[in-house]
Amino acid sequence: MLIVMHHNASDKDIERVKKIIIDMGYKPVVIPGAERTAIGVIGNQGWVDDAPFRGIKGILEIIHVTKPYKLVSRDFHPHDTIIKLSDRIKIGGKSPFLVIAGPCAVESREQVFKTAQFLKKLGVKVIRGGAFKPRTSPHSFQGLREEGLKILYDVKKELDLLTITEVMSPEHIEMVEKHVDILQIGARNMQNFDLLKEVGKTKKPVVLKRGLSATIEEWLASAEYILLEGNPNVILCERGIRTFETATRNTSDLSVIPLVKSFTHLPIIFDPSHATGKKNLVPPMALASIIVGSHGVMIEVHPEPEHALSDGPQSLNFKEFEKLYLKINKLLTFMEEFE
Ligand code: PEP
Ligand code: MN
Repeated sequence: MLIVMHHNASDKDIERVKKIIIDMGYKPVVIPGAERTAIGVIGNQGWVDDAPFRGIKGILEIIHVTKPYKLVSRDFHPHDTIIKLSDRIKIGGKSPFLVIAGPCAVESREQVFKTAQFLKKLGVKVIRGGAFKPRTSPHSFQGLREEGLKILYDVKKELDLLTITEVMSPEHIEMVEKHVDILQIGARNMQNFDLLKEVGKTKKPVVLKRGLSATIEEWLASAEYILLEGNPNVILCERGIRTFETATRNTSDLSVIPLVKSFTHLPIIFDPSHATGKKNLVPPMALASIIVGSHGVMIEVHPEPEHALSDGPQSLNFKEFEKLYLKINKLLTFMEEFE
């Protein structure tokens, strides 16, 4: 439930409403707005009786929120969330478009450093690489695990790049967060609720990928798990969904980007690599995501895609990535003038 206060409601009026909420056994969340304050009711598991609020001074309107998420919704937080990834780098709102690139998996020190040096020279600020890999077959490469995290840590220190890697299990969070800057929750774990709650207890930014067959409502409800535990730094990532179509690895749902932006204040990025599964489709889809309002892209890049231990067919080589990166920058310049 959301209680919207009159523009001339006093601090005392607000305090009174907060007290009623607490006395009912719920938690009040004050949402200051440019014109009026709203107070969200958190912690209810069903319909909240609005009788105790009737006739209370300063209340303009009571809105029953029927969606399974509140903290992530624009009703609760109308302005765009801007997430600080470092002192200089932010994502969300009108922050500069963020390009995340790197291999699907951390395979070796040489592979990661080679990629990182190339990306840094180009101007990319965030490198990706999976140390724990969620593979469909247990016979496929499972990742270098802790050794992979150490490589990411060294790359971050030596080249001053931000790093992102997937965390697959609650017991690894402590170790992973010591080594990288951004945590990724993979598509297969979007509804691993214990994992979501645990990353919600950290302060690290979290990239939450959309589940293989998740609706927008399910995806936002998963983000809500993280916010509810106290971590507001969630970046949504559309990575394609599973449909009847088999010509592409997944079906890119690009309309979800402007739609989700109308539902939530959280930043949203697009992953054209997993969304298509085909390297020749990565550049046009990455560019298309800029047009529809994405806050960033995450793209798989490998020094030798033909020898990659995972996701080679969707990985760009350095030359291909450089070409795309230049186009991205050109398009961003055009978009600035366009807006
Ligand atoms: C990945 O980013 O390498 C990955 C496994 O992605 P997803 O969870 O979207 O399949
Ligand atoms: Mn991958």
